[in-house]
Order: sequence, then structure tokens, then C-alpha cells
Amino acid sequence: MEIYSGKSVYGGIAIGRLRVFTGSESQVKRIRIDDTAAELERLEKAREKAKEQLKQLYEKAVREIGEASAAIFEIHAMMLDDSDYIESAENIIRTQSVNAEYAVSVTGDNFSNLFSTMEDEYMKARAADVKDISDRLLRILCESPDAFDSSDEPEIILADDLAPSQTVQLDKEKVLAFVTVHGSSNSHTAILARTMNIPAIIGCSVKLDSSLNGKTAVVDGGSGRLYINPDKDLLDEMRSKRSEEIEQQKLLQSLKDKEDITLDGRKIRLYANIGSLSDIAAVFLNDAGGIGLFRSEFIYLGRSSLPTEEEQFQIYRKAAETLAGKKLIIRTLDIGADKQADYLGIGQEENPAMGCRAIRICLTQPEIFKAQLRAIYRATAFGDISIMYPMITSLWELKEIHRIADEVRHELLDKGIECGEPEQGIMIETPAAVEISDILAEEADFFSIGTNDLTQYTLAADRQNPRLDDFYDPRHPAVMRMIKRVIDNGHKAGIWVGICGELGADTELTETFIRMGIDELSVSPSSVLKIREKIRNSRMNL
Ligand code: PEP
Ligand code: MG
Repeated sequence: MEIYSGKSVYGGIAIGRLRVFTGSESQVKRIRIDDTAAELERLEKAREKAKEQLKQLYEKAVREIGEASAAIFEIHAMMLDDSDYIESAENIIRTQSVNAEYAVSVTGDNFSNLFSTMEDEYMKARAADVKDISDRLLRILCESPDAFDSSDEPEIILADDLAPSQTVQLDKEKVLAFVTVHGSSNSHTAILARTMNIPAIIGCSVKLDSSLNGKTAVVDGGSGRLYINPDKDLLDEMRSKRSEEIEQQKLLQSLKDKEDITLDGRKIRLYANIGSLSDIAAVFLNDAGGIGLFRSEFIYLGRSSLPTEEEQFQIYRKAAETLAGKKLIIRTLDIGADKQADYLGIGQEENPAMGCRAIRICLTQPEIFKAQLRAIYRATAFGDISIMYPMITSLWELKEIHRIADEVRHELLDKGIECGEPEQGIMIETPAAVEISDILAEEADFFSIGTNDLTQYTLAADRQNPRLDDFYDPRHPAVMRMIKRVIDNGHKAGIWVGICGELGADTELTETFIRMGIDELSVSPSSVLKIREKIRNSRMNL
């Protein structure tokens, strides 16, 4: 039995087989080969296999997400037939006598750089496609399993790191646990693991190697341990620990349908955070009162072009309809920093967390913002939708947002399209927004405090940097004081204030937040019932 340690992101026990996902960032070695004919044949076989995979993915996607979204796999298959691309790779093998992996990697980089410098937006977006097909060919050539072409059996995913764009493509039913060698506990991949309610470990000391594929392993998310080839004693111990967890879950289930009310009668709105439509099932299972944060940017990730207004409308409408009158707070596109979409053309930034992200993209590329707002406004006819704007730092941004939103709404009404007048709130996740929260409160319908970013910007500690985990302290007194101040300023202006950052799920602080006057807590679905338990055992007044 081998034992490896890492940092816990989400607790729970998983027992199953390992699958090593090497992803697209793996280093490709340049190896000289003598038999170029054999290498060309390997490339051809890989191409055939990639086309077959894409055909299957296309069929699966048509069934699960519809023809329009599935088309991307058809485009990828067509690109594999593109003679320029394949001829370039063949040429590198022939002229340099090198391995197919190296030839594919160089060709992929060359073509994707070529596309990304083009003026035309459509052609620019093809850069990500070329990268995708090159990665697929590489995975086949390296015989590393494709995390996205899931096997039938749920597995433990072992990866160097996972980008949010990769994580969103995983078939959640097929993932028992995540273990990554790198990554930070405050990253969006970690947040996704919590939303998916699966054990997860980061910073694990295991050495990735394809020979680990298929080996039996145990992940103990709580203690941050990974056991490979566990012995019988450990398996027995973990099985009984898992049974205890299930018992605890059952106990929490008895809190379903109970009110979120303190011992002295203060009602708290307890909502859930989601990243996709498929998370709504967990919202119901855990009996959240609504959705306090729909991270809409996940709709924009893991694809190679912008989602259309219609695609987005269908998603928001379905969410609103399914929630049947429960509140749905849609946060507008918060892309940037660790959530990258190449087709937006932001390019490399020196400091992406402080770069062109979130509302800054929306205000500098208003056509993208307007398409999303149109989709949301159209969906307001189907449920109780509110809109929330991320990364606000200034009053002028909010005024400009309102101007654009009003324009969009009136254009729709002029066309005879029904739309409501949703609440429009903002995230308080920058020190600047805290500092002027009294002024912003006059313009916003509600505040939702994003403690993840607020901590990073207040403490000058990059939430993505695992080496800073000891410095990145969301319970820091500076952050706690800011939360109190924002609540007070919001209340003075008569608006409600919630927390949708991960700190909202810190059960040791639930009573503190209630005493500060918090109106709403929005947490990952799996945390809802344990927070309910805390609320019901807390007092607003001493
Ligand atoms: C936050 O910053 O606290 C937040 C909720 O937004 P995200 O984690 O998606 O940046
Ligand atoms: Mg944030």
C-alpha cells in the first residue's frame, strides 16, 4: 500500500479505480526516430481514433445538450481532415526524423498561434479548436486516457492540475474524487469539487504515471490522504468511515423542509451556489431556498466560441422554470483570472486577477454583455430572477451597467418581448467596493459579499497560489470587519446583504454572521443542511 498526503479541499471517502489525466499541459519530448514510416502510421492511426472519439462525443452531446452545442465536435472532426494541419505534422516527422507527439505538439502550437493573431473573430476562435484537437491526438499517442471520454465506471481522477474549463467538461456522475498534484484550495476547481459534493485533495505528493491507471485507491478527502493499492485493514476502516458519513448525511436530511430560523426567531435566507443547470438537482436534494449565485461564466468555458443569446436564454429559462418560483440570482459573466476562454481574445496578462476580467470585459465588449443581459431579461418571464454584477470597484461602473441594462430591457419591450424588472445587485469583492459601499448601496438592490476575491484583494494574497494558503485567511480581522461594515451600510440604505463566497459555509462563523445582521448565506449545495443546523442552534441576540 502506498500513502500520499495533500491538502483537503472537500471531505468524504471515495473508493475506486484511478484514472490519470495528464491534460494538455504535459511536456512533450522531442525524440529522434529512425523509422519515419512507422511514425507516420502511428500518426494516421491516432487521427482515425480521434475521429472515432469525436463521432461518439458528438452523438453523446446531441443526446445530452442538443445539436447546436454538439456541433463543436463535428467541427473538430472536420479539422482533423484538414490537409494543411496533417501535412504539417507529417512533414515535421519526415524532415526532422522525430516522434509523432513532438510533430503534433509543434503543429498545434504553430497553427493556434497563427489563428490567434488573425483579425477575424471567428478565425481567432479557431485557435482554441486547434489546441483541442492537438491535445486529443497527443493523449491518444501518449496512451493517456481522455478525462472527457468517460468510461462506464466512476473513477478517481488524478491530475497534475485541472483548469475550470476542464473540470466543467467532466461527467460528474463518473467522478468519485479529484486528486491533483498542484492547485490551490481557493481556486474555482476546488469550488467545483465542493459543488459536486465529491472528496477532493490538492497538492498531493503522488508522482503521476500512466501505470497508475486502473489501480484501486482510496481518497480520504477530510484528512487529505490518498492510498494506492490499499490493504484489507485500511479498506475495512474506510468502508466503516464511509458508512458513518452516510449516517451523518441521513441525520442532516432530517433537517429538510425545516425553516432557516434562529432560536430567537431571526429568519435567514439560505441559498445555494451553482455553476451549471445540472447542479440544480443538488439544490433540491439539499433543500436550499433558492440560488444565490449562478456562476454563469461556466457556460462560456470549455468551448471555442461565445454561447449565443438563444443558448443562454434556454439555460436561464430552464433554471427559472425548474426552480418554480424560488429565487435565482444570475451573476453576469465573471470570466478572467483562472477562468479563461481563449476566444475572448484577452491574451496573456501580467497579472490576470487584476486584469481584464468580469465586469471589465462586459463594459469594454458591450456586445457580449448585452447578449447575456438580453438572455437573462427574456428568462425573467419564467421565474423569480435577479441579476448580480461581479468585480465592481466604482460607482460609474454601476451607472453604466444600469444604462446598458435599461437599454436592453427597453429594446426587448419595444419588440413586444415580455420581460420583468429583476432586482439588480452587486458583488462586494473588492476593498474599493467595501470602502464606498454606503454610496453603492444607494444604486444597488442588494449586496452579496464575495469573500473569495475580497480576501485575495484585501490581503494581497493570490487565491490561486498554493504557497500562500497560510497567508490567504478569509477569517482575517480585516475581512471580518469589512463584512460588518458592508452589512451596516447596506442596511442603512434599506437593502439586503448576503455572503456568497466560501466563507459563508464556515459553520464556526454562522452565528457571528447572524449577529452581524447578515440576511442571506449562499453556499455550495452540499453545505446547505449543515448551515441550517447551525442557524437553528444560533441566537441573533445574546
Ligand atoms: C467570491 O469571489 O467570493 C465569489 C463568490 O466569486 P468567485 O469565487 O466565483 O470569484
Ligand atoms: Mg469573485
